[in-house]
Amino acid sequence: MSTFKDLGLNNDLLQAITDLGFEKPSEVQAKAIPILLESETDLVALAQTGTGKTAAFGFPLLEKIDVASRTTQGLILSPTRELCLQIANEMKLYGKYCKGLNVVAVYGGSSIQEQAREIKRGAQVIVATPGRMKDMIKRRLVDISKIQYSVLDEADEMLNMGFKEDITEILSHTPEDKNTWLFSATMPKEVARIAKKFMANPQEITVGNKNESTSNVTHEYYMVNARDRYQALKRLCDANPDIFSVIFCRTKRDTQKVAENLIEDGYSAGAIHGDLSQNQRDMVMKSFRNQQIQMLVATDVAARGIDVDDVTHVINYQLPDEPEVYTHRSGRTGRAGKTGISMVIVSRSEVRKIRGIERIINQKFIKKEIPDGANICQVQLMSLANKIHNTEVNDEIDAHLTSINTLFEDTDKDELIKKFFSVEFTRFYNYYNKSKNLNVSESSRDRDGGRDRDSGRDFKGGKNDSTRYFINVGAKDGFDWMKLKDFLKEQMDLGRDDVFKVETKDSFSFFNTENELKEKVLQHFTDFKHEGRFVNVEVSENRGGGGRRNDRRSGGKRRDDNRGGRRGDDRRNASGGRSDRRRGGDGDSRPRRSENSEFGSSRPRRSRR
Ligand code: ADP
Ligand code: MG
Repeated sequence: MSTFKDLGLNNDLLQAITDLGFEKPSEVQAKAIPILLESETDLVALAQTGTGKTAAFGFPLLEKIDVASRTTQGLILSPTRELCLQIANEMKLYGKYCKGLNVVAVYGGSSIQEQAREIKRGAQVIVATPGRMKDMIKRRLVDISKIQYSVLDEADEMLNMGFKEDITEILSHTPEDKNTWLFSATMPKEVARIAKKFMANPQEITVGNKNESTSNVTHEYYMVNARDRYQALKRLCDANPDIFSVIFCRTKRDTQKVAENLIEDGYSAGAIHGDLSQNQRDMVMKSFRNQQIQMLVATDVAARGIDVDDVTHVINYQLPDEPEVYTHRSGRTGRAGKTGISMVIVSRSEVRKIRGIERIINQKFIKKEIPDGANICQVQLMSLANKIHNTEVNDEIDAHLTSINTLFEDTDKDELIKKFFSVEFTRFYNYYNKSKNLNVSESSRDRDGGRDRDSGRDFKGGKNDSTRYFINVGAKDGFDWMKLKDFLKEQMDLGRDDVFKVETKDSFSFFNTENELKEKVLQHFTDFKHEGRFVNVEVSENRGGGGRRNDRRSGGKRRDDNRGGRRGDDRRNASGGRSDRRRGGDGDSRPRRSENSEFGSSRPRRSRR
């Protein structure tokens, strides 16, 4: 069977399918649709994300319900609000020629009364999150006693999220003789248990191997020191100028921090996690869908709703605790027949986790090296060249051509090209020139030397675990940040990464160390003289600092839009704990000339798409 028509769908649906541009059924559709159309049966279907499961249950459901009746006949349970909305929207598209069809989405964070009203108008199909559905039943706002079909979509996710009790409760209000269709990407034991509990002799279909991830995804891992994680992330992004990616972190805090750091470093990024309001999440998701954001940093829970087709890369900034979760992460790319890459940044101690994941996904990881500076510069340069080559000429420029030509009268083509490219390229070159090798081998502990100008370091140690100091020497005394960093390291006999976020002002400066070095630093600079004058170091009240991008470029406002709205207290933390009151007072959190900043002049900026 090779067409939707062969599968036995009616003309209304076939017309909608043509409108949608679906040419032929996907594997799970080809397998599930005939079974569901031809028999009244329970079904367990296992297929990866992005394989078209929504239509696999959506088409048969629409075919089977009676649109002339206003009774609720189908109930689809799905783990998140985003998925719920997405499924409801898809169902409406599929059923656009089914006259009288009413599909209602029911989910938290939106008026329950309004949803109840919509149902009362006669919803044949309800798409719901378990939590809100249970609520509605309890408040008698919905009647599901005549349900004929219940669909458990993303069953593994729903169980992961602890919806087992809710599902049990909800299904207890439905008729015994209904059919239940369970769709899942993986088949952990709990799903098998649920299937057994709620289903009678279900037919089973599997697309690909159980628990196997999509084969059009390549899996790569990169080994670095844990403290270089963030630098490694930036390089992976810089080495892929057209990246459109989801970056996974383990905690909400890390998610927020990575996104903030990326934004501060000039990347087009946003965060999505449970501490954001629904509104904020919607905004971030909208920007991501429109590809206004190139990098979406997400927690596993928040990412459950992300079904965006063109994701080129999934980056595991940290590995999940449960290896099964990796399948869901990597399933965010390689969707709808496209290829994708799932990258994992690991430290040496985590390599064994990679082996565990390989067993689950039944695919081998490729060990890759974090690209070096020269490599990235080359990629960026060629990407720029291609962009220029493909740029449509704007004829408005003609009016100014004479003056421009006069200016370049004596410049030959080669030189002109070089100059032109230098505008963009020098930024990357300066940033990556002499940058260190971030790769570590699986056995040895030593790292490549080389000067690291990129002292942003993993943010983990950057803010709350570190102490910020004030020192009463600055540019006037002949220090720039590099010289001051060297000076401090030499003075206290510290390692290369022990002093960071060094920032020199005219007559004073700031720097950070890990908290545990605080005693040592303060001790060293008690009664300390340098070139005949007392050098004084104090703990600065502004603990963060360093590397905040001057608001001039992004105009301050856009940055906020970009990060999808942070909560007030996050903002305070990000700018250094208690320092807000002192904003502008100590010169540390005031917009500064980036030339003085460690990140500033040398940080490559990403142009938005
Ligand atoms: P899953 O639920 O398995 O993760 P979805 O149902 O969300 O997958 O489908 C993934 C994408 O593939 C969607 O954009 C959907 O519109 C598209 N799609 C589904 N079926 C087909 C098909 N037969 N042909 C082309 N695209 C399809
Ligand atoms: Mg789905």
